[in-house]
Amino acid sequence: MKKIGILGMQGAIEEHREKLKKLAGIEPVIVKTKEKIAEVDGLILPGGESTAMGRLLNYFNLTEPLKQSIEAGLPVWGTCAGMILLAKNIEDQDERYLSTMDITVKRNAYGSQLDSFSCEKEIPEISKDPLPLVFIRAPYITELGQKAQAVATVDGNIVCAKQDNMLVSSFHPELTDDASFHEYFAEKFI
Ligand code: GLN
Repeated sequence: MKKIGILGMQGAIEEHREKLKKLAGIEPVIVKTKEKIAEVDGLILPGGESTAMGRLLNYFNLTEPLKQSIEAGLPVWGTCAGMILLAKNIEDQDERYLSTMDITVKRNAYGSQLDSFSCEKEIPEISKDPLPLVFIRAPYITELGQKAQAVATVDGNIVCAKQDNMLVSSFHPELTDDASFHEYFAEKFI
């Protein structure tokens, strides 16, 4: 049984948990402490609000232990706000959070809540069928560092990328009926 954690500070925690519960051989675990970080084989940083999550990580003294675990190889997947937490650079913002992945992200890159949208896209690395992608006040990647690789683009913008043990997506696979993304993370990263 692989244990996949979901960072339990704020955001779409339950939605990821429901998705993971349906996968064979996976036990979802809500992670709120340093001890729990050490227990899991991989960790999802959910979408939500990166500013709030960043503050909560600091408040619970989790920023450094989490950063260290990721740097030591803990497989991690950041969705939306989770992508922002992992980015080394954030446009128009000095504050950084975990700062482990060699990408520059633009927050709210598509505009406000009203500009949230969904689309279908083939991402051959994840699935042979087109995948539903849901974007909610989503960021995208404006620059990839040397070690990071694009996995998917939408309208020319990078919305999914990977680097070593890290995966990030601008969109929210936990809000769709499709499980390919969760399977991909569980099989290829953990
Ligand atoms: N706009 C949010 C942020 O900047 C991310 C939105 C999301 O996670 N759906 O943190």
